[in-house]
Amino acid sequence: MKRLALFFCALALVAPLSCVVAGNTGPAPGPVALTVSLPDPGQKLLYVHEAMPVTPGPLTLYYPKWIPGDHSPDGPIEQVMGLEFSANGQRLAWQRDELDRFTFHLTVPQDVHQLDVSFQFPSHDRVTGNLIDLTWDHVALYRAGYPTRDQMFRPSLVIPADWNYGSALQTDKRDGQRIDFKTVPFNTLVDSPVIAGKYFRQIDLTPRGSSVHRYLDMVGDSAAAIAITDQQSAGFHHLIEQAQALFHSHHYGSYHLLLTLSDHTAKGGLEHHQSSDDKARGGSKMFADPAHFMLDGSLLPHEYTHSWNGKFMRPEGLWRPDFEQPEKPKLLWVYEGLTVYLGDTLAARSGLWSPETWRDALAYRAAVMAHRTGREWRPLIDTTIAVDYGAPEAWANWRRQNDFYREGELLWLAVDMKIRSLSRDKRSIDDFAHAFFGIDNGSFVTHTYDFGDVVAALNKIQPYDWATFLHTWVDGTGDQVPLLSGIEASGWKLVYTDKPSAYESALEDVGMGELEGHGINAMFSVGMFLSTDGRVEDVLWQGPSFKAGLAPGMKLVSVDGRAWSAQVLHDAIAAAQKSNQPLRIQARNDGAVETYTVQYNGGLKYPHLVREQGKPDYLEQLLAPKPVGSGA
Ligand SMILES: [Zn+2]
Repeated sequence: MKRLALFFCALALVAPLSCVVAGNTGPAPGPVALTVSLPDPGQKLLYVHEAMPVTPGPLTLYYPKWIPGDHSPDGPIEQVMGLEFSANGQRLAWQRDELDRFTFHLTVPQDVHQLDVSFQFPSHDRVTGNLIDLTWDHVALYRAGYPTRDQMFRPSLVIPADWNYGSALQTDKRDGQRIDFKTVPFNTLVDSPVIAGKYFRQIDLTPRGSSVHRYLDMVGDSAAAIAITDQQSAGFHHLIEQAQALFHSHHYGSYHLLLTLSDHTAKGGLEHHQSSDDKARGGSKMFADPAHFMLDGSLLPHEYTHSWNGKFMRPEGLWRPDFEQPEKPKLLWVYEGLTVYLGDTLAARSGLWSPETWRDALAYRAAVMAHRTGREWRPLIDTTIAVDYGAPEAWANWRRQNDFYREGELLWLAVDMKIRSLSRDKRSIDDFAHAFFGIDNGSFVTHTYDFGDVVAALNKIQPYDWATFLHTWVDGTGDQVPLLSGIEASGWKLVYTDKPSAYESALEDVGMGELEGHGINAMFSVGMFLSTDGRVEDVLWQGPSFKAGLAPGMKLVSVDGRAWSAQVLHDAIAAAQKSNQPLRIQARNDGAVETYTVQYNGGLKYPHLVREQGKPDYLEQLLAPKPVGSGA
């Protein structure tokens, strides 16, 4: 296959408008008329048709491969079926590229100027009988040889006539089942999901006096699922105001928080420039159940923060002219780590989280990272390069996985605390956020940056040897990394007690997707993480359970002679502290049942932050709401 030569942006902070895919100058023939139909929501099948202007000769088309925000080549090409190319009613032969299954080759015959492309896509985790959460990268082929911003698409969506919808796309017209959106470049289309459904509600979050519109769009499987209380919706109003007070800027024309509240779709969020695709982990219970609302409380602040950190300001290795060129995700500790730190802080400042929830979440993550035995052999930077959202939980503590989120948060806490202490409380992460993300207010042309730009921006706020500090942290291993230094400098310290926080209890009950798992966390005591049915998911490397011979995949049968349950395990750990006797754990392994003797008498251990009296309370300052200006 002929490889396309690329010119990348050589200089940091150069708007990617100057980057081009070689081979073609100017826009691709267009626009492509893309129609996606959902005739029977119960069947979850999307029918795709593209009318693509073409010229005769060889043509190469791509299915989107590297999806921004996924940081990996995970476009669901394996789901595409019924692919057909035709012109003037005649089917055309095609070939998939032998080296890249996302690439298709065909020859456009003489005198043909429009190619018809059709296929079907089973959207089993984004469609229910009552709603759709559509991401356009699943349902379009685009042309090789042109940057995606030079390929214009005119998208249409055909859905039941009684469904309403929300999207950052602008509507051209709606006629019954058919919605025609205005023509946009293909990169904007992929960045602009649509939620639609029978139960839909839009809340205007635009601050008083502002002409820049912000919306919370919600879709669910029932009227009850989208029944948000006034107090809950006030939290999202405050989120918009507090983000403005933090960044002093916006980088969108308008913004839509797109929230899907279903028990039958995938969970989690994906950031976009002018919207976010948020699937409540609590599903239909997010608003009704306080534990779910707490765990989901940071989801929208996180994805909203990405509009600044990730979409507008983007590591240069994560900006690409199309979705085929591989990303270089080395700066994910900024892209994700700082977003966890700032997003969770905005959750607290807006009242979606209490300060206590923020501290409980941080304590939990700090404890998990402090038990990441893999820090001995694997630096944080390596977890960014080998980003993997599908990695198994088994041996996660020794192998590490995607630690740039939670350890990244601890890193940025340490940076913030250092700015505060070195500046004698005059400056903080807020000044960095204002300076780094607040440029070009109103523009949404992406700026790219590299490691040196982060260091330079920090030095402008507070002179320090940031390069050494950051290199030591992201490239170092073991005790070289000052993992808990941010907590220790904040006026608080990490301790373990025999009672879980409300946050950890909720996590064990319902979980929190990719950041924190659902199950029974005994990693900090006997060194095991269990699923609720007693399956061993992870074992702490060289910890008490490891030394006893336990391993992931086994299933607990009994503890000290009593049939296994979460309570029995807890009771046995507590009793062993008093009796000083080892725990006798029976577990099933490949059909055999064995007894394992676990030497541990440290008692139950659950992480918390407690105040260190006499030191300034920087967390109180960090989490307090900031004064809200007018307009913006
Ligand atoms: Zn994120």
